[in-house]
Amino acid sequence: MKNIEFFRFLPGGANGKTASGLIKLVNTLLKEYRVYGTVKKDGFPAYAEIAEAKELDLFSTPTHLSAKQFLFPPKETLLRYDIRHHLHEAVIESEKQAIVGLHPCDIHAIALMDEVWAYGRPDANYLSRRENTLLVGADCMPDEYCFCQSLGTMTVDDGFDIFLHKIKKGFLVRTASKKGEEIIAGLRLREAKPSEIKELEERERIREASFKARLDAPPKELPGIYAKSNDSPVWDRIGSICTGCGSCNTVCPTCYCFDIKDEVKPNLSEGERVRVWDGCTLEDFAKVAGGHNFRKTRSERLRHRFNRKFRYLTDRFGMLFCVGCGRCSRACLVKINITEVTNEIIRESNKRRA
Ligand code: SF4
Ligand code: SF4
Repeated sequence: MKNIEFFRFLPGGANGKTASGLIKLVNTLLKEYRVYGTVKKDGFPAYAEIAEAKELDLFSTPTHLSAKQFLFPPKETLLRYDIRHHLHEAVIESEKQAIVGLHPCDIHAIALMDEVWAYGRPDANYLSRRENTLLVGADCMPDEYCFCQSLGTMTVDDGFDIFLHKIKKGFLVRTASKKGEEIIAGLRLREAKPSEIKELEERERIREASFKARLDAPPKELPGIYAKSNDSPVWDRIGSICTGCGSCNTVCPTCYCFDIKDEVKPNLSEGERVRVWDGCTLEDFAKVAGGHNFRKTRSERLRHRFNRKFRYLTDRFGMLFCVGCGRCSRACLVKINITEVTNEIIRESNKRRA
């Protein structure tokens, strides 16, 4: 049984319109933070800034775009300059923000991003934003694309400030930081009851049994399996249908590649250096001056992307760079599905071993 003293009870439903506890929590956050939360946009779950609690809707399935946009924006200014006066100033746009409604896989993804942006020469822009960010998690139920269960990212014990577990009459709340604890202490919630903990455990059992997508090998074997997959026919097969749209990169919470460009004013003296999202499935990603493209074909680009998730970055950081959110599979118009592709690679590996 879970340790009851870690949980407090927040009354109300998962929709900020009706849930008294959620309204109280969001109102508290709004006093101190710019708040981004999950809302229904064009009928789909999405993150957006919220100005009042009633806009918040805690969904059990993942948002289309992840929350990485609030820590690593699609476009940001890094530097302003004026060469006439030999001036340049670094720009860091960072303010106190809270992200509400993060699922366990999203919290794991942010932990991976924290490693990436602190690695080597630490990135002041990301780290400043991260320092100013409060993370509020919420639990979820898998759809047919979620496979976090296969990657060990289905639950989360730290890396968040506050976590909300849905039960019938409200939420059981956990905290994992001093700041999160201060906020929850201010709400004066009562302790959880044993019956509520039982309800939570039952919900978790249902969740565990609800996964449809799964990988056929344990996570620790995936780098080795991918290392031998270079000549797999799967790359040409999926490369032949991939449109090279880059959606899989855009929606992925752990894709962090970017390009740096100068936006020069018409006076040709002043300008801004900006960082914009890039994606390894885009044709120009590995193209260099002179026109040579190190990954000319879509097959090569997809092979690279999958290897980044399950092998290359594991060599550097010791962790897989896929958290099993399924966003890339959901977003792909030609239905290239990351669990199916990986299972095909696993099957080929098993055949070689037999
Ligand atoms: S690779 Fe796909 S499933 Fe894995 S974290 Fe990225 S979007 Fe999610
Ligand atoms: S979303 Fe699908 S079609 Fe688009 S680049 Fe990724 S794999 Fe190719």
